[in-house]
Amino acid sequence: MKIVLVNPYEIGRQPFGLAEPAALLTKAGCTVRCIDLSIQKLDAKLLAEAQLVGIYIAMHTATRIAAELLPRIRGIAPRAHICTYGLYAPMNEDLLRRLGVNTVLGGEFESGLLSMVDRLRSDMSAVQTEPVVNLSKIPFLVPNRTTLPALSNYAHLILPDGFTKTVGFAEASRGCKHLCRHCPVVPVYDGKFRIVPRDVVVSDIRNQVHAGAEHISFGDPDFLNGPGHALKVVRALHREFPQVTYDVTIKIEHILQHQELLSELKDTGCLFITSAVESVDNQILEYLDKGHTREDFIAAVGILRNAGIALAPTFVAFTPWTTLHGYLDLLQQIVDLNLVESIPPVQLSIRLLVPKGSYLFKLPGFAERVQDFDPATLGYPWHHQDPRVDKLQQTIQACAASAELEGHSRSETFSEIWRLAHRAAGEPCLVLTRGHFGEKIPRMSEPWYCCAEPTRQQLGAF
Ligand code: SF4
Repeated sequence: MKIVLVNPYEIGRQPFGLAEPAALLTKAGCTVRCIDLSIQKLDAKLLAEAQLVGIYIAMHTATRIAAELLPRIRGIAPRAHICTYGLYAPMNEDLLRRLGVNTVLGGEFESGLLSMVDRLRSDMSAVQTEPVVNLSKIPFLVPNRTTLPALSNYAHLILPDGFTKTVGFAEASRGCKHLCRHCPVVPVYDGKFRIVPRDVVVSDIRNQVHAGAEHISFGDPDFLNGPGHALKVVRALHREFPQVTYDVTIKIEHILQHQELLSELKDTGCLFITSAVESVDNQILEYLDKGHTREDFIAAVGILRNAGIALAPTFVAFTPWTTLHGYLDLLQQIVDLNLVESIPPVQLSIRLLVPKGSYLFKLPGFAERVQDFDPATLGYPWHHQDPRVDKLQQTIQACAASAELEGHSRSETFSEIWRLAHRAAGEPCLVLTRGHFGEKIPRMSEPWYCCAEPTRQQLGAF
């Protein structure tokens, strides 16, 4: 069977979600080709010959791009079976099926892909029999990354001195044992996580180091959901490749709970930890069920500084509960903690996304605050009760986007956001100087975020 796997977008990562199914499906006797639209153009000739097209949608932006792409794929390959798989597939099942998708797979999707191929071998028109969400443990294979563009084409690591490193991408676990209400992992994994076997993770890393990787970015939703497994993986990584550094994502609660592990993370090459701080307003953190407070965040900053690991906080800066003064408070806290250089400006523009199945609807009164589901944006739109907050969000979003295009530094952009926010709140504005910004930290050339509008460039890729 001829299969084409398509990745619309994955924040500059070489996608595990294509490389691992490519290995599995090849072993099952299929001919697999991959197209990564973040780098490559849609290959109409390849698609026209495909019997099965699999589109990997691991994040919101990827799903938006896939929705634009599907009519074109259906036109090029009218008889092909189309499957969408990945975290965002189940929650957008209705829309995807309306756009011509035949099979929708989420959670641990690999067994579903293999079962689908068996089903299609006997009858190409057969309807889906696989569960849309599978959380059973599945066999993993070492990803086949030779099917994808070279690592040098993907996002790279920029060190504070300006030197860069080629980045490889690995997953040591999927899902999450927590239930943060706004998180897209929760409607699918419902508080469960699944580990990728250590020998598979380490073999995948080994292949990427041999392909030029000097730093590994772990894509696990939370690296310390299974601390024992995580430590075994980084010990093995460091034993074999002591020169290779890495970064991980860890929630504030876990940074505090497992602080005794941080020195070992540092010693095994951990350069920075991304953490979804989301807010410094304890009421908002409670609404999101984040499991940490503002005080915990401040404590985590100190703990990581002592451990010698940089913190890269992410935020949901605009929510229905954000006020103009609350936003100023966030900016002030970032300045007070000397974190300006640690935060990509786009993080200060992120607006709460409410996808299908969001646990936010479990919050009393939340449903009344949002409008009907909008298939164009794949979310439930909401407007702030204070229109000045929505206006400020749009202003900050435009500011961060143009600063990114024009290559402004984080401190320059933050200073402009600081000025705009104070003006919107009618507050006098202190002029920020270098002493307010903090040290530069290692960072990826493509900032971490998954819920923004696809750019013209991304949509133009096909
Ligand atoms: S936000 Fe992070 S910790 Fe919370 S459920 Fe999602 S992945 Fe887990």
